[in-house]
Amino acid sequence: SELNETEIQSILEDMITTHKAKCCTGKVADYIPELGKANENQLGISICTVQGQLIEAGDVDSPITLQSISKVITLALALMDQGEQKVFEKIGMEPTGDPFNSIVKLETISPNKPLNPMINAGAIAVTSLIKGADVEEKLERILSFIRKLSGNSKITYNKKMARSEEETANLNRALAFFMKEHGVIEGEVDHILELYFKHCAIEGCCKDLARIGAVLANNGKDLQTGETIIPLHIARICKTFMVTCGMYNASGEFAIRVGIPAKSGVSGGILAALPFKLGLGVIGPALDERGNSIAGVALLEEMSQRWNFSIF
Ligand code: GLN
Repeated sequence: SELNETEIQSILEDMITTHKAKCCTGKVADYIPELGKANENQLGISICTVQGQLIEAGDVDSPITLQSISKVITLALALMDQGEQKVFEKIGMEPTGDPFNSIVKLETISPNKPLNPMINAGAIAVTSLIKGADVEEKLERILSFIRKLSGNSKITYNKKMARSEEETANLNRALAFFMKEHGVIEGEVDHILELYFKHCAIEGCCKDLARIGAVLANNGKDLQTGETIIPLHIARICKTFMVTCGMYNASGEFAIRVGIPAKSGVSGGILAALPFKLGLGVIGPALDERGNSIAGVALLEEMSQRWNFSIF
C-alpha cells in the first residue's frame, strides 16, 4: 500500500536527529585521502518503493562515491556478460570474516581464488570480467548500467577520487598482482585496477542508492516500465551476497539486527533492498571500526524494528 508520506517523513526526521549524535563516535575513512574530506556529520536516508514513491529525510543532497557499493553493480554486469559458471570459476560464494581489503585468505585457501565478490580481491576479479574493448568502453558500460538502474542519466565518476585512490592503492595492487600470478585474473593488471578505481569513484546521492535498491527489490525490473534491467536469477544472486557478505565482516550481526540485504561502502553509503517492497539509500560518512556507517547502521536498525523490515 502507498505510504503516508508526511507521517513517515516526520518519523524519519526524528530518527535522524537521534542517530546523528552517533556520528561523532565514528571516523571518516582517510586511507584514500580524498575520502577524508567528507562531512562526518552528514546523515541522510532515502526510501524508494517498488512503485517508485520516494521519501527522503536528513542530509540527502550531497553525493558520495559508491566505493564498495559498486561491487554489487559490477557483479550483476559481469554475470550478465559472462554467465554464472565463468564468474564463479574465478570467485567464490563464501563470507570471509576478514576485513574487506584482507589478503590472508587469498594465499591460505586453495585454489587461491577470492572467497566472494563483495571483498576487494573478489571485486577486482569481477572487474576483470566486464566486457568492452578498453577501459573507457568498459567504464561507459558500467556507467550506463548504473544510469539505467538509478533512472539518473547524469551519473558519472569523480575523477579526483579515482586519482586519489590510484595514488594510494598499494594493497589493492598487491591483491591484483597476487591474483594475476595465480591465474585468477587475466589481462593487464593496471587496466583492471584503473577500471576498479573509476567504478568505485562513481558518484550518487541518497536517492540514486534507494532507486537502485528498489530495482533489486523489484527483481531487477525497471520501476516504471517493468523492463528487465537485471535478470531475476542475477538480482537474486546479488541480494544473497548482500545478506551474506554485503556489510563486510559485520554481515552476520547486520543480518540479525537489521535483516535487509545491504551493501556498504567506505564512503559511508549503504544501499539496501527489501525484496518486493523498497530500496533504501543511506549516507553517513562516519564509520565504525569495520568500515560501515556508524549512524547509518543504527538508523536502519531502528527502522527495521519499527516497521518489521527483517526478511527473516
Ligand atoms: N575503493 C575502495 C577500496 O578498494 C572500496 C573499499 C570499500 O568501500 N570498502 O579500498
